[in-house]
Amino acid sequence: MRIDLHTHSSCSDGTDTPAGLVRKAAEAGLDVVAITDHDTFAGWEEALAEAERRGIGLVVGAEISSRLATESGAGASVHVLAYLPDPTFPELQHMLERIRNGRATRVPVILERLQALGITISSDDVARHARSATAPGRPHVADALVEAGYAADRNEAFDRWLGEGGPAYVTRYAPEPGEVIRCVVAAGGAPVLAHPHGRASRQALTDAMLAELAGLGLVGLEVDHLDHDEATRRHLRELAGELGLAVLGSSDYHGEGKDHHDLGCCTTDPEELVRLLDRARAIADASGRRTPEPFLPDPTLLER
Ligand code: AMP
Ligand code: ZN
Ligand code: FE
Ligand code: FE
Repeated sequence: MRIDLHTHSSCSDGTDTPAGLVRKAAEAGLDVVAITDHDTFAGWEEALAEAERRGIGLVVGAEISSRLATESGAGASVHVLAYLPDPTFPELQHMLERIRNGRATRVPVILERLQALGITISSDDVARHARSATAPGRPHVADALVEAGYAADRNEAFDRWLGEGGPAYVTRYAPEPGEVIRCVVAAGGAPVLAHPHGRASRQALTDAMLAELAGLGLVGLEVDHLDHDEATRRHLRELAGELGLAVLGSSDYHGEGKDHHDLGCCTTDPEELVRLLDRARAIADASGRRTPEPFLPDPTLLER
C-alpha cells in the first residue's frame, strides 16, 4: 500500500496537468494520491476524472500559504495542507483569492527589482510559464529566468534572486497559520501542517506553537518530507504522538519543477491515512458543510 498525500500540478507550480499527475501516480505504483496545489482547488475535477479512469485512490486538497506574524513584521512562511474542505465555503474562497491576488500583484515588483539588477524579464515571459496556473508566482519568474539563460534551474534562480532575503525578494500577503486552520475546519476540511521544519519555515515553529495549532483543530503533521533530516523526523513523530496528531509522509512532487521529489519518495502509512480520514469525517459532520469524499476505488483498501 503506497500513499502520497502532497503533490502539485500545473494549476499551481507543478509541471504536470492534474490528469498527467494522476496518471504518473498510477504508473509509479501509488494506491492513493492527493492533489494539493498552492491556494487553489482548480485541479480537482480533472484529477478525479483521471483517478476514476485509472482506478487509483484520490484525496483532494490544497496547500495554503500562511505566515507567522512577528513584532518586526513578516515572519517565516508556513504551509497548511487542507484535505477535503467544502470548496464553495465563501470564507475559504475569499482567503484563497486574497492570497492568489497577493502572489500575482507582486510579480511586477519582482520584475522591477530584477530590472534594476540588469535582468530584463517581461510579464509576458512570466505569464507564458504560468499559463495553466491560477496565479503566477516566483516559480514562474524562475522559469522565465531559466529560459532567458540567467539560471540553470529554478533552484539557482531562488538561490540567487528570488528566495527570502534575495535581491529580488518581495513579500506578499499571507494569513496567520491559526486563521487558516480555523477557516479550513469551518469549511469541513482537515488541516495538516506541511513540512513544519522545512526550509521556508526554518525552525520558527516551536513545539509550543504546534501544540497551540493542534488546539485550533490541526489534525496532522507532515513528518516524512525531504526537507526534514532523521533527527527532525524523530522529534516531530514523537510530538505528533503526544498531541494525538496523524503522521503523514509525502513527496511534495512538482514534476520538473523540483528535483528529487519523485512521486512516492516519502509515503504515509495506511493506518495514518485512516486516522486522517476519520478526523476529516468528524470535522465535516460537525461543520454542516457539503464536503468532498475521498475517492477510494477499492473500499477494502484501508481495512486492517
Ligand atoms: P510564491 O508562492 O510565489 O511565493 O512561491 C513559493 C513557491 O516557490 C513555493 O511554494 C515552492 O513551491 C517554490 N520554491 C520555493 N523555493 C524554491 C527553490 N529553491 N527551488 C524551486 N522552487 C522553490
Ligand atoms: Zn510549490
Ligand atoms: Fe510547501
Ligand atoms: Fe508543496
